Amino acid sequence: MKAIQIHETGGPEVLQLADLPIPQPGPGQVLIRVEATGVNFIEIYFRKGVYKASLPLTLGSEAAGTVEELGPGVNGFKAGDSVASVGVLGSYAEYALAPAAQLVKVPDGLMPEQAAAAMLQGMTAHYLAYSTFPLKAGDTALVHAGAGGVGLLLTQMAARIGARVITTVSTKAKAELSREAGAAETILYTEKNFEAEVKRLTGGKGVDVVYDSVGKTTFDSSLNCLRPRGMLVLFGASSGPVPLFDLIQLSGKGSLFITRPTLWHYIATRAELEWRSGEVLGRAAKGELKLRTEHMYPLAEAAQAQADLADRKTTGKILLEP
Ligand code: NDP
Repeated sequence: MKAIQIHETGGPEVLQLADLPIPQPGPGQVLIRVEATGVNFIEIYFRKGVYKASLPLTLGSEAAGTVEELGPGVNGFKAGDSVASVGVLGSYAEYALAPAAQLVKVPDGLMPEQAAAAMLQGMTAHYLAYSTFPLKAGDTALVHAGAGGVGLLLTQMAARIGARVITTVSTKAKAELSREAGAAETILYTEKNFEAEVKRLTGGKGVDVVYDSVGKTTFDSSLNCLRPRGMLVLFGASSGPVPLFDLIQLSGKGSLFITRPTLWHYIATRAELEWRSGEVLGRAAKGELKLRTEHMYPLAEAAQAQADLADRKTTGKILLEP
């Protein structure tokens, strides 16, 4: 089978197309014929060596496809089932294994590319809006990267709850997409200072919550956008990690609340995986959650897909088609 592997960490050029044997499912595992693979920042962090893994490594963790074969002890799935997971072991491939415990069935009416587009970013948006800072009608939220994969889904969820959503985006085209998703206000941070704009838009009060996936370049101003005791949720590092020095300084100025992180908050338990994926896939199947799946690349072009994601060239979901 074809797969994308790295033998060393580095730029997109370290991604190589390889011919590998189809893996055999072990106890508790399911072999999936991959039909759509999600491209995410986490794979860029593995490629760069920010997250450590032994090499060679077949990249990827999110996919949707069809069950091909069950390993010993797997119940609840059968060959031919349409499934999706964010815990696939090497999803940049034509076939991949997933632990049955991290697999869910895709509801009728949802195509594999839609399921792959909804899972990781959808469940992330869901835990942010419903668990980390549970939004209520009337809250004001600032969402960075409003036209990104997480951003478009989070904006839709927050607007549906009745929150007022302000987003930051880099281009006018992205601003339009963000407004279509439900943003009440969009700030072109490439033209205007977003901190000053947020203060103007909230009459100086500040926002209840900032969902910040950009990190290094936004962190300080994000804090300044908050109302007193508002919450800054730092859940990504698209521009690089926030320097530790900033955090230490902050803890010296007042209080710094940090929750215990897990790699995948949304699948801390099987019950949570079923709840969040059920909500996200179910709403997508009913058309209540709009998915943007325009950026589809052949598997062999995985390097280009990652480069485009990292270079702010994309909106919504980036997918690979094995
Ligand atoms: P996006 O589609 O949001 O892409 C990143 C966007 O960030 C860009 O399009 C760009 O939007 C904005 N951006 C601002 N500054 C930079 C910069 N210097 N370099 C690159 N991008 C920049 O990606 P995803 O939706 O896939 O992921 C968003 C973030 O969420 C990532 O940081 C990811 O790691 C994180 N994440 C965290 C999870 C968790 O559970 N903690 C789970 C899933 C994702 P614009 O052009 O409008 O500025």
